[in-house]
Parts: sequence; structure tokens; C-alpha cells
Amino acid sequence: MGCIILITEEEERQKRVYEYITTTHMLCLLIFVITLILSNRSIFPKNYFYPFANVELLLLLCLLGLVAVLSYITKMRLTQKTSNSLSYIDFFYMVLPLILAVFILFLSHKNLSHTEAILLLPILITASIRGKKAGIFMASVCSLFLIINNVIMQPEEFNIFKAIESCLIYISLMHIVGWFIGGMSDIETKHRKHLTQMANTDILTGLYNHRYFQEKLKEYFQSVSEINPLSLIIIDIDHFKNYNDGFGHLAGDHVLEILGSLLKENVKSGVVARYGGEEFVVLLPGSDSGTAILTAERLKKLVEDYKFYGEEYQPGGKITISCGVATSPVHGVSPKELIKRADYALYKAKSLSRNKVELYISVFEDLSLNENEKESFNSIRTLVSIINAKDRYTFGHSERITDYSVKLAMKLQLSEKCIQQLKYAAFLHDIGKIEADGHILNKPGALDDNEWKILRQHPIWGSEIVKSVSQLVPISKVILYHHENYDGSGYPDGIKAESIPLLARIIRIVDSFDAMTSNRIYKKNMTHSEAIEEIKRCSGTMFDPELTNIFIDIINSKDNKL
Ligand code: GH3
Ligand code: MG
Ligand code: MG
Repeated sequence: MGCIILITEEEERQKRVYEYITTTHMLCLLIFVITLILSNRSIFPKNYFYPFANVELLLLLCLLGLVAVLSYITKMRLTQKTSNSLSYIDFFYMVLPLILAVFILFLSHKNLSHTEAILLLPILITASIRGKKAGIFMASVCSLFLIINNVIMQPEEFNIFKAIESCLIYISLMHIVGWFIGGMSDIETKHRKHLTQMANTDILTGLYNHRYFQEKLKEYFQSVSEINPLSLIIIDIDHFKNYNDGFGHLAGDHVLEILGSLLKENVKSGVVARYGGEEFVVLLPGSDSGTAILTAERLKKLVEDYKFYGEEYQPGGKITISCGVATSPVHGVSPKELIKRADYALYKAKSLSRNKVELYISVFEDLSLNENEKESFNSIRTLVSIINAKDRYTFGHSERITDYSVKLAMKLQLSEKCIQQLKYAAFLHDIGKIEADGHILNKPGALDDNEWKILRQHPIWGSEIVKSVSQLVPISKVILYHHENYDGSGYPDGIKAESIPLLARIIRIVDSFDAMTSNRIYKKNMTHSEAIEEIKRCSGTMFDPELTNIFIDIINSKDNKL
């Protein structure tokens, strides 16, 4: 489709260029005839051996030469189709005959004024840079200058009409040059503008495309600072594959178009672009996280309220979006980092419940580490990402556990310090799994005795790993005991009830609930209510009964319905 538009544009451009050339030829001929009539000379100069005696004729020949050269170059370029715009070289070819004309005039007619020819240069430059209107305007200014010059040169026989009459040919020439070069320049500018617009636009939605977004992101980053933040929202349609599967890709495309217009109409001071597939981005220069979240929430609500065709068959009965928000410089100091962080937040929104806006928050933001610890801590972070890659079916698990654990801790009114430690522990609770083979973690069938033995070691390994960072030492016990049961039937030490650290008891419930409701390779997930029943059944055996009741309340609250 883009190609067809380009071809039509190119044909239109060719037509207009030829129109200009033809009109110029005709105008030149007209001037030639007028010149001959006014000067009352014969068509052939009297002196055959010195044709340059007729200055007007010389200028006319130069102009015709210019038109011929230009016509030749244009034709060549159009047939070769090497480029869509005339280059500076073309302008050089255009100016060359005129410079030659001035030069010849100067050499052969020292006694003649050469002001007229020199005046063509500012017209040429203005027209080629600023277009037709400016070219004609400059031609008028130069004409006025020429008339005044003529009057000053012959003050004794002052006659303005005579001065105009003697300059008439030059005035015409100047206006033709201004009009012609300016016209060509206008065509090129319009053409270039159109091509740039096409190169930056996504055909389906009419929004900016990925290329433009990356360019703008880089540009905005030049001026990012604490007082001039830059926020990024990444938007992804929820369960869009499901919609395409049900109604076909054309219907899916229509949803993308509608969503594109909704975003475009409702983001006034930012750049909205299609990132790719069913993902969109909104760049908000000068906006902090708070403003960006408000914008994302507004967009989320708009999509939720819009009635899309066939949306009742979507999970949740609606077409919804999830948004990830990150802000620079707080969350990232390079374009790549900002995208990564917003993407991470989006992924968190997806893994928590969808139809959600999430701001990037690093669980470990508040850790102040010395140089040695930074190294150990970075290794721990790497380990977490390796586990995520190794254990594909628990991807997002750490984030969800952290989220639910914090909610439970807040209900229990635990101190801020405790909640912070719980965040670390929840995020890192499975870190010991790094020692287990990927095939054990992703095994479709039941584990044999040996494999179980290995897997049951992960709380011990995990607690050892985190001890390498002094600030994480307090959570090593939480990680060590996160598989202990309330009745003492858990592992590794079989401790029971209140002797299990409170934070470990919290993680035990949340971890089990998430395992029940996530799809694992070895089992199908339970529904929400099935999982709640199971948790209730195990209250007092596996789980702390008091915590169980509070957790069920949290799960049943509207915010946490999946
Ligand atoms: P999630 O909620 O996790 O984002 O689920 P999802 O189904 O939206 O995500 P997934 O990444 O599995 O699928 C994205 C789908 O988006 C796959 C493809 O069918 C659809 N898609 C991507 N680009 C286009 C497009 O240009 N037109 C249409 N109609 N569909 C597209
Ligand atoms: Mg997607
Ligand atoms: Mg999606």
C-alpha cells in the first residue's frame, strides 16, 4: 500500500516538474519576442561573428540553457529513480549558467552595467531555500532596486516610466527565475515532507511507528533531568490472541485502529506510537511518575468503557489493556533502561491480574550497599533472572508472591522494616532452586525420591546464598523456613507453629496459593475458589490458621480477583 502511494506521489511530482519546465520555455520565448519588438531589432543580430553583442539575447540564451540542463537532470533522475529529491548538485547546475552569464557580460561589456545579472543570485538563493512566494518577493525587491539604480544612474533625465521600461526585460527574467526555482523547491519540500511522514507513520493505526518513537526517545533523553523527567507508558492489549482466534485478524486489526484513535485523541501533550503488534507506547516529556500513572489509568478506563465488537467473549467479558510505567531519571538513565523498566512494570501488571497499571518499583530500591555487597547483590539479581529462565512456568511468581505478601503484612500492621524484609524474602524465596537442574523444575510427571530430595534442599541453599549480603542476613531464616508447615510436617527442620518465623509463615500461604492457581507443566491450575477451598482445608496443618483467614479476605476482595 505504501508503495502504491509512493508511485502515485512520484507520478504527480513528475507531472508538476514537466509543467514547470514547459511553462518556463513558453515564458522565455514570450520574453524573447517582447525583447525583439521593444528593441526593434531583427531576429538575427547584425554582427554574425559576435553574437554576444545583444545582451538581452545572451541572457535569454543562458536562461534557456539553464532550463535545458535542469530538464535533462530531472529527466535523468526520474528515469533512474535513484533519488526522490533534487540535490545541491542540481542547484549548482542551475546556478552555473547564470554565473557564466555574469562572467561573460563582465568580460565582453565592461562598459555595461552588470547589476541585473548579479541580482539574479539572491533571487535564486531565496527561491531555492524558501520557495515560490519568497522567490517572487525577492524578485520584486530586486526589480525595485534595479529601477532605483537606473534612476540614480541617469538623474538628469529623470523619468520613472522610462526607467521601468528599460528594466522590463530584467524584471520579467527575475520574476520567472523566482517563480520557477521557488516552484521547484516547493514541490521538493512538499514531497520530502510527505515521505518523512510516511516513514514515521504506522499504516494500520495512523499513529507514529516504532522508528519514530525510538528517535523521539533519544531526543527527549538529551534534556532529561530531575526537574525535567520523562515518563514512558507501555500498553499491551490483554488476551488479544484470544480475540484474533475468535473473530479473525481483520476484526483484530479494527480493534487496533480504534485503540489507536482512542490513544491519539486522549493524549494531548505526548507522543503516542505503535511499538509493535498489539503494543503501544506513550512518551510523556516533563511528566513525573504520578502524572504518568494518572494518564495510564485514564487510558485504561477509556478502553474499559469502550464497547468493542464481540468483547463479551474475552476473559472478563471486556477488551482491556495493561500498562507499565517507568520514569527517567529515577528508573533509568538511558533509553534502553527506561524501556526495560516500563516493560518490567507491564509484565508485573500482566502477572498480577491484567487490566492494571503498574509503576516500575525495584524491590531492592532501599538497599544501601557497600562495594563488596553490591557485587554479591548483583550476582543474586542475576541468579533470580536465571531461575526465571530455568523455571519457565513460575515466571512472574516472585512478583506475585511479593505483592500478596506485602498486602498480608499490611493487614497485620507489621512495621515498615518488617515489610521491607518480607519484600526481599518473598522476592528471593526460591533462589536456592538455582542449584536444582532445569529438568527437575520443569518435569511433566511426578518427581522420584531422589529428585524430591534434591528439590527439598532449595530452602537451605537459598538461605546460604543471601547470607553473602549483610543486609539480607536477617531474611536467610525466612528463606530457610518457607516450606515449614504449621503442624511440623514441613521441611527442612520440621519446626512448628510460632517457632516458624512469621514472615516464613506468610510466604508459605502465599506461595502455595500462587502454585495452585498457576499453570505448571505437571498440573493444571485450580480456579480461584478451588484454591481458596484447598487453603481452608489445609489451615492449621500446612498454614497458620489466623493468617489463612486474613489471606482469604484479601483474595476475596475486589482488587485481587483475577
Ligand atoms: P496477554 O494478555 O498476555 O498480552 O495476551 P495476548 O494474547 O494479548 O498476548 P500474546 O503475546 O500471546 O499475543 C499477542 C497477539 O497479538 C498475537 C497476535 O495474534 C496479535 N497481533 C499482533 N499484531 C497484530 C496485528 O497487527 N493485527 C492483529 N489483528 N493481531 C495482531
Ligand atoms: Mg504483547
Ligand atoms: Mg497482549
